[in-house]
Amino acid sequence: MIVMKFGGTSVADAERIRNVTEIVRSQEKRKPVVVLSAMGNTTDYILEAAEDALKRGFVSIEKLEEPHLKAVADLELGPLVKTELKTLFWELGSLLTGISLTRELTGRTRDCLVSFGERLSVRIAAAYMKSRKIKAQAIDAWDVGFVSDSSFGRAELKNESFVRIASSLLTVIAEGITPVITGFIAKDENGNITTLGRGGSDLSATVIAAACKAEEVQVWKDVDGILTADPKIVPDARPVEKISYEEAAELAYFGAQVLHPRAMQPCMKSGTPVLVKNSYNPKAPGTRIEIKGGKEPSLIRAITSRKNIILVDLVSTYMLGQPGYLARLFSEFAAAGISVDMVATSEVSVSLTLDAVHDLGVVKRELSRIAAVEVKTDKAIVTIVGDVRRSSEILEQIFGVCRGVGVQVQMVSQGASKVNISFIVNDEEAPELVKALHRHFFGEKPGGKTGGKPAGKTGESGKGSGRGKGA
Ligand code: ASP
Ligand code: MG
Repeated sequence: MIVMKFGGTSVADAERIRNVTEIVRSQEKRKPVVVLSAMGNTTDYILEAAEDALKRGFVSIEKLEEPHLKAVADLELGPLVKTELKTLFWELGSLLTGISLTRELTGRTRDCLVSFGERLSVRIAAAYMKSRKIKAQAIDAWDVGFVSDSSFGRAELKNESFVRIASSLLTVIAEGITPVITGFIAKDENGNITTLGRGGSDLSATVIAAACKAEEVQVWKDVDGILTADPKIVPDARPVEKISYEEAAELAYFGAQVLHPRAMQPCMKSGTPVLVKNSYNPKAPGTRIEIKGGKEPSLIRAITSRKNIILVDLVSTYMLGQPGYLARLFSEFAAAGISVDMVATSEVSVSLTLDAVHDLGVVKRELSRIAAVEVKTDKAIVTIVGDVRRSSEILEQIFGVCRGVGVQVQMVSQGASKVNISFIVNDEEAPELVKALHRHFFGEKPGGKTGGKPAGKTGESGKGSGRGKGA
């Protein structure tokens, strides 16, 4: 069997659902399990509706109903689905009314609310698939064994989920049914609905794949796979043919909008290949994520950047030979619930980075007792994922490019995962730098200097990049 996961844009309206149905049909022989996100921006709309109810006592689900009802009408679905959807909308409306009256919105209620997005989309898609003679069945994830803890908004699946999912889904598949399962959601042991974190449908899909020992899991998106850079910054970006789980995870952590960062874990353990495909362009080969990445020697795989980073510099001679100094320092961040991303240390100084969502007031005051603290805002992390066994070569070229475009690198860290080199620059410099790095490592255009290769041959193009070309 295989798992096919389709994201929100892939099921955004009737036309996209028709398209998805054809993609599923084309692989029906491989016994697909389909996992879906909510249609389009449904999750965002539900969260907005919840805020409206909470803050303004205003309840309206029109904006939510409209795209779903339109899809039902366009797909000419029968009264059965309409009744089912009506019930869901009634529940959703009632919940929102409750919030508007009590002016209270807990994590538990929020998870319950957003779960409606996926519950709606699977019912519509499965009904359409049935009308197209696919033996599809809409299933809520909890009915096939998705059990999580009670951390609402970022629930962790319990280990027993794997066994339950395998036994229930394999039975369904054996009956010749194509299950269409809600991504993103689960239930805790008390029966409360939970969510796995934004973008969590990827994780639902890889969990199913690992549990059922699937041949592969296909993650269908609206781009031709994992790209060498963010196409909004580098229009020239092209798909990476093959990449390892570690590399893909690093890219996800450092800002590439490819996969949920945690989604790689289950398949990494089970060794299940993950294929990232484009539902708008099913013929494109996509990116294959597996244990071994692409062919060597490819100097780098991809470049990514994340904006809005805070850089904290701590300098203290007290640090010299002081056991426990770093422990003390990090415990302040831990106490404030702040997660630190990159770290670089010398004998007397420590630099670290954080997402700029944190208020550093308390931490700064505490740390000032043991070090001179300087907080620098408006920074960006630029991450290069590639063969770090050739790090000297890569670093030399990165710094050459930086010098060429007049950018000063403010901190460097080479990830312990052995696949990433990250460095800090000013926010406003990041896009130009990413462009210059991409030009350097991947050449001008497919068919340009690095050579007439079809998109997807990215793995090799790094090889052709002449030293100092961008410098
Ligand atoms: N619908 C959820 C979200 O938008 C989960 C997902 O799409 O994976 O975050
Ligand atoms: Mg989504």
